Amino acid sequence: MERKGEMSDEEVLSALMRGDLKMHEIERAVGGDVPRAVELRRAFVERKTGKHLRNIGNFSFDAEMAMRRNIENMIGAAQIPMGVAGPLLCKGDASGEFFIPLATTEGALVASVNRGCAAINRSGGAYAFVIADGMTRAPVFRANSVQDAINAVNFIRDNEDKMREIAESTSKHLKLKEIQPFFVGRNVFLRFVCETGDAMGMNMVTIATDEVSSFIEEHTSLRSIAISGNVCVDKKPSAVNLILGRGKTVIADVFLRDDVVEDVLKTTKDAMFEVVMRKCFVGSAFSSSLGFNAHFANIIAAIFIATGQDVAHTVEGSLGFTTAEVEEGGIHFAVTLPSLQVGTVGGGTSLGTQREALDIMGVSGSGSPEGSNARKFAAIVACAVLAGEISLIAAISARHLTQAHMRLNR
Ligand code: NAP
Repeated sequence: MERKGEMSDEEVLSALMRGDLKMHEIERAVGGDVPRAVELRRAFVERKTGKHLRNIGNFSFDAEMAMRRNIENMIGAAQIPMGVAGPLLCKGDASGEFFIPLATTEGALVASVNRGCAAINRSGGAYAFVIADGMTRAPVFRANSVQDAINAVNFIRDNEDKMREIAESTSKHLKLKEIQPFFVGRNVFLRFVCETGDAMGMNMVTIATDEVSSFIEEHTSLRSIAISGNVCVDKKPSAVNLILGRGKTVIADVFLRDDVVEDVLKTTKDAMFEVVMRKCFVGSAFSSSLGFNAHFANIIAAIFIATGQDVAHTVEGSLGFTTAEVEEGGIHFAVTLPSLQVGTVGGGTSLGTQREALDIMGVSGSGSPEGSNARKFAAIVACAVLAGEISLIAAISARHLTQAHMRLNR
C-alpha cells in the first residue's frame, strides 16, 4: 500500500524504465515495503522482457528475512521438486531412522537413494562418524623475503594464544583450532581452522581471520593481499581439502550381506567390487579426478538445496572415496567425505522450506551441546551418500542403470 510521500507503483516502474531509479533502490522508494518492492522489481523485469513471471512470483517464504540475509534484487523464487528417501537407519554420530529430503530435477535419483536405504536397513543400518571438524579460511600475505616469511610464521607460532583470543572475540560460537602455514616463494598462506558450532561457518571464520590478519600486519612485515588466497579452499576442487579436510570430515560404512546384495540390489558382490575398483579407483586415477566415487555430488547437491546449505560447496562435497571389500558372507562398503560443509543455523537454513527439511531429520537450529546438530546432520548426509553410492554401483554392475532411467521415462 502506497503511503504519503512514497512513489506510486506506476511512478516506480516509469523511473526504472527511464533509468532514473536503480533496481536495488526500489525498497527505499516504497518506504521499506519489501513484498511490494519484490513485486515491482518483477513487474519491471516483465515489462522489459515482455515475459509473464507468474511462477517466479509464487513463493511462501518470508521475503523480508530473505532480503536481509540471503538475496539482493529479489523478484521471487526458483522452485525445485523435493522428495524423500528412506527412512534410513543410521548409527554412530546420528542415531535413529531418518527420512532424507532431496531437492532435485534429476529423475531416478530419489528412487536410487531409496533403494540404497533399503539395502542399508536390511543390513542393520549404516555407521557414520565425524572424525574431524574445522572450517577454514586462508589469506595470502606478501613477505619481503623468505627469511621475513619464516620470522613472521615463527612470531605467529609464538603468539598463538593471542591469535586465539582475537579470533574468538569475534563470535560466541567460534573456536580457533590451529593456523596452518604454507610457503610459496615470498607468499605466505595462513590456513585458519575453526570450529563453528552448528553453523557451516564461512562468514564466521572470514570475520575472525580478518581480525587476526590485522594483528599480524601490525606486528610483522607480512602484508595481507587477499582474505582468501585460494588455499582455504572454498568452492574449488583441491587436493588440500581432500587430504587435510575442510568443514566436517565424515566416514560412513555398512556391511552388506550376500542376501541383501542379491534380493535388494539384484547383483553380486564381485560385480560391485569390480565396478568400484575399475571405475572409482582406476578411472578416477587415470582422469586425475579428486572424486574417487560414483556420484557423491548428486546426493549432496540435492540435500544442500533442500536444507538451505551453500550449494556451491557441492564442489568440495564431491571429493572423497568409495571403498569396497569383499568378505565372507558379504561386502563392506564405505564412503569417506573429507570436506563436507554443512550447518543447521545461518546461511539459508532459516528459510521456510529449508528449515522444515532440516526438521524432518530433527536437526534444525542450535544443538545441545552446541555443534551437535551440525555433526548429526553431517553424519546423516554421509549415510545418505553411502546409500546413493551403493545403489548406483549396484545398478551399474547389474547393467540396470539405463533401464532404470528408461523405466522412469528419463
Ligand atoms: P552466518 O549466518 O553468517 O553466521 C552464523 C550466525 O549464527 C552467527 O551470527 C552466530 O553467532 C549465530 N549462531 C547462533 N547459534 C549458533 C550456533 N549454535 N552455532 C554457531 N553459530 C550460531 O553463517 P556462517 O555459517 O558463518 O556463514 C554461512 C554463510 O556464508 C552462507 O550464507 C554462505 O553462503 C556464506 N559464505 C560466505 C563466505 C565468505 O567469504 N564470507 C564464503 C562462502 C560462503 P555469532 O555472531 O556469535 O558468531
